Amino acid sequence: MKPATRSLQSRAVCQSKIQKPVLSEGRTDPKSKILLGAHMSIGGGVHMAIQRACSVGCTTMQIFVKNNMQWLARPLTRREIGAFLNHSQRHELLSIFAHANYLINLAATNPQFHANSLRSLSEELIRADQLKLPFLVLHPGAHLGAGEEAGLEKIIESIDHVFSRIPKIKTRIALETTAGQGSCLGSKFEHLAYIISRVREPERLCVCLDTAHIFAAGYDIGSESAVRKTFREFDRVILRDRLVAIHVNDSKTACGSRVDRHEHIGRGKIGLEAFRIIMRDHRFRKIPKVLETPKGKDLREDVENLKTLRGLIGS
Ligand code: ZN
Ligand code: FE
Ligand code: FE
Repeated sequence: MKPATRSLQSRAVCQSKIQKPVLSEGRTDPKSKILLGAHMSIGGGVHMAIQRACSVGCTTMQIFVKNNMQWLARPLTRREIGAFLNHSQRHELLSIFAHANYLINLAATNPQFHANSLRSLSEELIRADQLKLPFLVLHPGAHLGAGEEAGLEKIIESIDHVFSRIPKIKTRIALETTAGQGSCLGSKFEHLAYIISRVREPERLCVCLDTAHIFAAGYDIGSESAVRKTFREFDRVILRDRLVAIHVNDSKTACGSRVDRHEHIGRGKIGLEAFRIIMRDHRFRKIPKVLETPKGKDLREDVENLKTLRGLIGS
């Protein structure tokens, strides 16, 4: 760890009120309340994701709010927003949230690229807010050689800028833990804690934990004791209250490899222990857990992975 980041550890992250997903009451089967789902395609319109998720028994899902490889898009029409908000199956999903597009880099060193990132992020927050989504998951950014500290400062500045331009938008940004590939920031819990502690409106930030990413970043979650230790570390550095979502992905790559390759649950290097704890521990009960594993159009792989994860609850 570089000296610049070691000093970040000591900074306290201020606690704030966190919206938690609301569970519908009155169901008796405890498994039915498990907030479990997958990332769903919005092909054919944002509302189409709802029926895709429901068709494989999801109780939560993640979506992109537009094409994930484009900077900008035409605004959502009233009709599209209505089709999503009034979808007859929307109530079956207890939590729906968004993931930002992959082009955004708040630490971009090229001015045009940075300007595009700010605009694109604001636009996506507005779209997510129109769809009443509580948060948009975002990779913090890559410093591209400028150094960790310079990158983190640029991200903090950028978040302040974006939020100041859209004061009324309720959708928060959920900073995602990353694998630390290349110059990507967010591979240490301290990076996220530092950003949260330094922005002007920390109450508009929360955190999404990706199992494949933290494992690749070097946090061991391969055994029960290792998982407990890593989550204790997360609680100490970031605070559990900030956690709003978990990406449940196994990893094709080894712990500490810093290479981000998602694998089907139980078929990668993480093993099942981490997923068993995430599925069973009451502290994660209200946290939506979403798969981001490879799949085809028929969602067969999702069905399989969801079944494996549900199977861990009773084991
Ligand atoms: Zn992500
Ligand atoms: Fe992820
Ligand atoms: Fe990933």
